[in-house]
Amino acid sequence: MKVTVVGYWGGFPKVKEATSGYLFQEDGYNLLVDCGSGVLSQLQSYIEIEQIDAVILSHYHHDHIADIGPLQFARLVKSHTGESLPALPIYGHRFNEEEFQRLTYKDYTQGEEYNPALPIQTGPFKVTFLQTKHPVPCYAMAIEGNNRKVVYTADSAYQKSFISFSHGADLLLCECNLYKGMDGAKIGHMTSAEAGKLASESQVRKLILTHLPHFGETRQLVTEAREYYNGDIELASSGLIWEKD
Ligand SMILES: [Zn+2]
Ligand SMILES: [Zn+2]
Repeated sequence: MKVTVVGYWGGFPKVKEATSGYLFQEDGYNLLVDCGSGVLSQLQSYIEIEQIDAVILSHYHHDHIADIGPLQFARLVKSHTGESLPALPIYGHRFNEEEFQRLTYKDYTQGEEYNPALPIQTGPFKVTFLQTKHPVPCYAMAIEGNNRKVVYTADSAYQKSFISFSHGADLLLCECNLYKGMDGAKIGHMTSAEAGKLASESQVRKLILTHLPHFGETRQLVTEAREYYNGDIELASSGLIWEKD
């Protein structure tokens, strides 16, 4: 199982970078998790647009879906200029009908509803959901491949239910939009300290801090998280790869 960080900024992308987007690969299958601003451009550094097999979205904030429209146009253009492509499934929840309907575009992409109470299987990946604490309906995902489990918190304030959900994961991709001592409860984001605590409580094997803030010195987030978790911690960056058989 291989995970590539395609984009990792909260809110908006820094120059030549992207907001949320993660490429999960196994057995030749390519699953894109979230598709924020700049993701489509960055993604082409790793795979061709024709090679995407499915997309899954945590929620409908711009920094997680901004490149869905361009992705739909890309599939149209590629279908007209090369081999015709199958409709690309884009999984999303249906608690915002207007946003969900936008996931379907002619024959090029097909919105697929996930019911967060039930796992879905997409290629080799089994995806299980957990509702997060965020101003709009948002779902964390536990993504299991043949041998490995990766948990992506999506956007959320800290909540206890993350502990059992993430338990024993090989990798925790934890949002970390705030520094230690700040209060994320109202705005629906986590601090470095909470990310570290969660990694420790859920006994994950590795922690990657992502959905990073545009203020402060982001290296400090690692130092702060390390006060609570003594495992391996990395700051997300464009093209960061995690891979385990
Ligand atoms: Zn976000
Ligand atoms: Zn959000």
